[in-house]
Amino acid sequence: MSDIAQHLDEVRQRIAQAAAAASRDPASIALLAVSKTFPADDVRAAFDAGQRAFGENYVQEAVAKIAALAEWRGEIEWHFIGPLQSNKTKLVAEQFDWVHSVDRLKIAERLSDQRPQGARALNVCLQVNVSGEESKSGVEPAEAAALAHRIAALPGLRLRGLMAIPEPAATLDAQRAPHARLRALMETLRADGLELDTLSMGMSADLEAAVLEGATMVRIGTAIFGARDYSH
Ligand SMILES: *Cc1c(COP(=O)(O)O)cnc(C)c1O
Repeated sequence: MSDIAQHLDEVRQRIAQAAAAASRDPASIALLAVSKTFPADDVRAAFDAGQRAFGENYVQEAVAKIAALAEWRGEIEWHFIGPLQSNKTKLVAEQFDWVHSVDRLKIAERLSDQRPQGARALNVCLQVNVSGEESKSGVEPAEAAALAHRIAALPGLRLRGLMAIPEPAATLDAQRAPHARLRALMETLRADGLELDTLSMGMSADLEAAVLEGATMVRIGTAIFGARDYSH
């Protein structure tokens, strides 16, 4: 078994254990393998181990990888999860199945306009700043409802839910708090009539906290592919 296959197994077990602790069906938690900075061959290894959904942060790198793995275009689901600038929306609208990092109307409108005719609506999550840090991207929770309703009305998009990247915390309880805030916000939006089914939260270090608080999609990089090297 490759290292990546073994790591995937371990992550699936972590999800199953956290789901059991939360009395949840493990099948209700999708695993997104975050392959940013790793080569197409590592995506192949994960694919061979049964993984089908992959997350990428950098448009150029992702587009090259999608091209390298073109033979699996119909089987792999590509998720864009990184900060998105206006001048990169077209490639993302054309090549991805999901975008998790929408936090401005202008970006959402461009993605909707640039989604190719005949393609299925692009699945999007609204990224919310649940930790209140100045530097982090994401809409402020107080502004999320208004923005969510505007995005849900765009024809090229299908608003699926909310995404967050909480600031790192050392204890399980401290990790749970921001995830609980995201879940509460999603419940408010659903009560308000939006049909949302996705809570994209949980990374290598806080997967358990996210699953305990209702994550339906966890985004795992390091625990599958190893530590990232940004030096080249
Ligand atoms: C890199 C990244 C991840 C994966 O983080 P790990 O800690 O390596 O699991 C998840 N979500 C987003 C938005 C990321 O940028």
